[in-house]
Amino acid sequence: MRPETAAIHAGHHTDPHTGAVITPLVLSTTFARDENNQLISEFIYSRANNPNRQELEHRLAAIESAEVAVTFSSGLAAAMAILHSLSPGDHLIISPDMYFGVRVQLETLYRRWGLEVSMADMTDLAQVQAAIRPNTRLIWTETPSNPLVKITDLRRIAELAHSIGAVCVCDNTWTPLIQRPLDLGVDLVMYSTTKYIGGHSDLLGGAVIARTDSELMQRIRLFQQIGGAVPSPFECWLMLRSIATLPQRLEAHCRNAMRVAEFLTQHPAIEKVHYAGLPSHPQHRLAASQMSAFGGMLSIELKGGKEAALKTIAGLTLFARATSLGGVESLIEHRATVEAAHANFPDSLLRVSIGLEHPDDLIEDFNKALRELDPH
Ligand SMILES: *Cc1c(COP(=O)(O)O)cnc(C)c1O
Repeated sequence: MRPETAAIHAGHHTDPHTGAVITPLVLSTTFARDENNQLISEFIYSRANNPNRQELEHRLAAIESAEVAVTFSSGLAAAMAILHSLSPGDHLIISPDMYFGVRVQLETLYRRWGLEVSMADMTDLAQVQAAIRPNTRLIWTETPSNPLVKITDLRRIAELAHSIGAVCVCDNTWTPLIQRPLDLGVDLVMYSTTKYIGGHSDLLGGAVIARTDSELMQRIRLFQQIGGAVPSPFECWLMLRSIATLPQRLEAHCRNAMRVAEFLTQHPAIEKVHYAGLPSHPQHRLAASQMSAFGGMLSIELKGGKEAALKTIAGLTLFARATSLGGVESLIEHRATVEAAHANFPDSLLRVSIGLEHPDDLIEDFNKALRELDPH
């Protein structure tokens, strides 16, 4: 099945009892045995598994052309499941601009737990190579990066990881479907499904996806079932509803983001636009070689510094001033306010999640807010 078809059909069966075309929501936490004490279905207890979660995991694996997906109650719970598959004393390599929540997990939870961490700029293979130690077990990538939209060469990083017997992970939250890390040699794809996969800013979730049911994936599954950070049946049901339209939503997010990025590039109040779809992006060719489109996220730096950045977001009417991304509505945020001491980018930077509004309306909104910066 092609992604558009898998997004609707994979793992789905018309309910045999009622004929319901949409899988019923199964809220029962427990599942009965028959008079011979045999289980009636494959389900026992809903933390271990339930019909809605099973359908969601089939669907997520299918759209990634993978065999296994394990879902969690949030993206950070999915990240923890991956980190917990390591052992105290293991070493991993991360990038300074990875999602800051995972960085905070490593600094606050996993340092005490005995994981060793090195940072390397993933766009510079020599830096990654230099960070390798005898106990390096994992390389964590995220591309395009947050918020500077830097591109990591996934093929080469995966090759490097495999050459030392390490696992390569890609946080693909920004680019489901349009970037397929498993095809490029990456071992584990991680998602905050809260973002594009959920797509409507109304549910939290996470997932880890792999080509085969390896021992590593079994450890991650165990962390899900015994760790207990599982998504509720209703969230799984909603997520499935969202996935049905994911391919079309992504296409529209990408098309709109390109239009807005092109407009902002030529605006005199803007110092820089970070968007990998622009030919002026320093890694545009690499991006084009591993992505089929360039996503709905971009960031801009204002010529007038932090003051102009804050004034711009105050003047916008269609963009909610809020963190997060991937919903149907456009969002904008002054990222340095959110990351505070963790921020390693200019405070003139605004991160934008382009929604599904008409791009001309978004452009007009920016045009008006930017004009107010310099009324002359
Ligand atoms: C939001 C996000 C996460 C964390 O996911 P939650 O669902 O908020 O726990 C991880 N990585 C990226 C790239 C994200 O955008």
